[in-house]
Amino acid sequence: MEAQRITTDVAIIGAGPVGLFTVFQAGMLGMKTTVIDVLPEIGGQCQALYPQKPIYDIPAHPMVTGEELIENLRKQAEPFAPEYVLGGMVEQLTKDNNAWQMVTSLGVTVEAKVVIIAAGCGAFGPNKPPLVGIERHEGNQVFYMVKDRQSFKDKMLVIAGGGDSAVDWANSLAELAKKIYVVHRRDKFRAAPDSVRKMQELAAQGKVELVIPYQLEAIQEDASRRMTGVMVKTLEGEERILPADALLAFFGLSMNLGPISDWGLNLSKNHIAVDPATMATSASGIYAIGDIATYTGKLKLILCGFSEAAIACHNAYNQVFPGKALHFEYSTTRGVPGEK
Ligand SMILES: Cc1cc2nc3c(=O)[nH]c(=O)nc-3n(C[C@H](O)[C@H](O)[C@H](O)COP(=O)(O)OP(=O)(O)OC[C@H]3O[C@@H](n4cnc5c(N)ncnc54)[C@H](O)[C@@H]3O)c2cc1C
Repeated sequence: MEAQRITTDVAIIGAGPVGLFTVFQAGMLGMKTTVIDVLPEIGGQCQALYPQKPIYDIPAHPMVTGEELIENLRKQAEPFAPEYVLGGMVEQLTKDNNAWQMVTSLGVTVEAKVVIIAAGCGAFGPNKPPLVGIERHEGNQVFYMVKDRQSFKDKMLVIAGGGDSAVDWANSLAELAKKIYVVHRRDKFRAAPDSVRKMQELAAQGKVELVIPYQLEAIQEDASRRMTGVMVKTLEGEERILPADALLAFFGLSMNLGPISDWGLNLSKNHIAVDPATMATSASGIYAIGDIATYTGKLKLILCGFSEAAIACHNAYNQVFPGKALHFEYSTTRGVPGEK
């Protein structure tokens, strides 16, 4: 199969709220965008860490949940037809013939005149339980996020973890699955009290079995190496084997700057140093905005990231369209594509 190659005006690394708003800002200035994210879905921290939590400090939204904000940003970006390249981490960023080239871990190459890094705290990845042979089952019987809840219909499930994801998915899948075991190392859950109450009600009705205080110990396999169950153990060494078609492990996400620290940009305390007047980094044609960018007085707030997106795009214009004058226009004057 031929490796995928995409050419664009502006490559945006990171599909969090700030990266998504950059699509809109770039689009309003006539710049084509490609958005790359290592996660399989857009939304960054809002979608991955707190989709259901209310946010109160987005201007003109007295309250909006993480996932509602992302859906609105997706819709706002839609008229500009961004290309999303999801599920692969940008590992390399190099300059070739006056264009920046990015290569993702899935082998996709994106070539752009300008790069805007909106990579938050770096690449997210699930914290994986240290079980021997777990990689063999990832994506088939072991999952760190749920993409298609229907795929768990009539299945025996082991859900491990004590936070919102574990509790919310136990509640959501209880009506579909044949049986759900929730494995947690202590009897206190770090999840919304209402959700914990609901899970306890389901446990009382026998729809969910709480396996507490146990930790995951080993994956059980049959002769063909198919997972048949999960062995769990207490601190005192008491073991149980839970028959399982699937293991859903929700131990949070790990974050690190990852390959970004090898791209030769000036860094400051694990963030990318920028000039706040332009959001330019130490490399010409590369900008950084949102949580990953730092300057004196930086506030790590979504609303500040939105403003940084506008500043970066206005400054990038001349690198995308050399010699073309930028006439500042309000959105009320310019409108958006497809609007009457
Ligand atoms: C529980 C919680 C509550 C919060 N509440 C608020 C609040 O009320 N108000 C507020 O303003 N802020 C809040 N925040 C902070 C807010 O979520 C962040 O400021 C915001 O998400 C930053 O957006 P971003 O787009 O810069 O980065 P992120 O949302 O972190 O997105 C960055 C994206 O870049 C991707 N990425 C990173 N490196 C690579 C790479 N090399 N290749 C490909 N992709 C990469 C990541 O996978 C990620 O999806 C909260 C945060 C948390 C955790």
